[in-house]
Amino acid sequence: MCYAIPGKVKSIDGKEVKVDYYGEEKSAVNELKNLEVGDFVYAQGGYVIEKVSPVEAQNVLETWKDLFFELKGVDAATSKVDIGALADSDTKKILQKALDGSVFTDSEALSLLGLEGGQNSELLYQTANHLRQKYHDNSCCVHGIVEISNICGQGCLYCGISTHNKSVVRYRMSKDEILAAVDKAVVTHGFKSLVLQSGEGAYEVDELADIVRTIKEKYSLLICISFGEIGVEALTRLYEAGARAILMRFESSNEALYAQVCPGCDLKNRISELEAAYKIGYLIMTGSLIGIPGQTGQDIVNDIKLASKLNAEMMSFGPFIAHTQTPLKDIPSVNEEAMFKVLSLARIMAPKQAKILVTTAFETISHNAREKGLKAGASSVMLNVTPLAYRKLYSLYPNRAHEDETIFKQIDDTVKLLMKLGRAPTDLSVK
Ligand code: SAM
Repeated sequence: MCYAIPGKVKSIDGKEVKVDYYGEEKSAVNELKNLEVGDFVYAQGGYVIEKVSPVEAQNVLETWKDLFFELKGVDAATSKVDIGALADSDTKKILQKALDGSVFTDSEALSLLGLEGGQNSELLYQTANHLRQKYHDNSCCVHGIVEISNICGQGCLYCGISTHNKSVVRYRMSKDEILAAVDKAVVTHGFKSLVLQSGEGAYEVDELADIVRTIKEKYSLLICISFGEIGVEALTRLYEAGARAILMRFESSNEALYAQVCPGCDLKNRISELEAAYKIGYLIMTGSLIGIPGQTGQDIVNDIKLASKLNAEMMSFGPFIAHTQTPLKDIPSVNEEAMFKVLSLARIMAPKQAKILVTTAFETISHNAREKGLKAGASSVMLNVTPLAYRKLYSLYPNRAHEDETIFKQIDDTVKLLMKLGRAPTDLSVK
């Protein structure tokens, strides 16, 4: 998925192309040879990934045309905000600042994080949703993720696939298995953007480069890598092989806290790797883990600022969920209200910048999280296309949402939800 809609190339200036979608123009980076004005293309994450025939494009455009505008109408009508609503005056004042585009202070951000449910929180969510609609329209990016191996050499205290978990059966998908999973996601289900994820050190760089190159040669796809810290040289090689996005959370912007929960790791290295990835040309998907012991509200505000500073194209903030086989097994998981506030705060602190993901962990703590998150400022979801035989073994935390669901069911549920909310499962956010 990322059920893209084809657009028509209006102009080409070096690698920069302008693409028209029903009268709306978006910019994209083109790396395809022989692209000409008038051609129809699919773009993902701001990259042109495929040229399609005019006949195929017109068929899709014809099918989508009415729905495209209908969905926009539903979204616009349901993302209004009434700042005169019942809420206290301090909250209204801060949210009005957010709507006006004024920068607000850390203490104002902290007071939003501290809201205790009811009308005040409702107004926060509505404001975030309104800003999401204003700057990102009704686009909702739907990526797929293939968790290719749960082997990991790191001892992060929170993580269910870390070295602490001695009881999980470890797996490592072969190149053929990975290609089969990608084929199913792309050919059977139409995904145009896939994340390949594993623990750290599960594959040699040569193997990863070979896998990425083969996928890139066979499929028109935005490939996102998520293998942890692999070093700048490996990042460069995987970029050359065809990867164009990286998903790597910095986990916490607080150096001491990070060192505490990821013993032996240094936040500076993780951050400089994300900076290097951006310089190489990768789209950055990053964020933090919410609810790790010792984390303060100020840490969370700093996390949002750091994600922004790292040029996140997509922000991923997810709740910590305790895993029985880890040292943090007795730490209570985050409550859902706290998580929604983080999502909304991220949207209003960086309204234009990024897609914001409703993570699977979020859906694990709250059955309705996808819908609520999308109505609280989020604009992206990720479906798990890992083969069912392996999915349960990628046990970051217990009882992960969608662990047993077929890809068909996940797509069906997602499309129904997006239609209900007036979101188009596309990648057409305003650049
Ligand atoms: N090795 C890669 C990396 O370091 O980015 C990707 C795999 S890592 C396991 C993926 C993400 O899972 C981490 O960024 C972390 O935030 C999340 N995660 C791990 N354990 C978790 C837990 N107990 N609760 C919620 N999220 C967790």
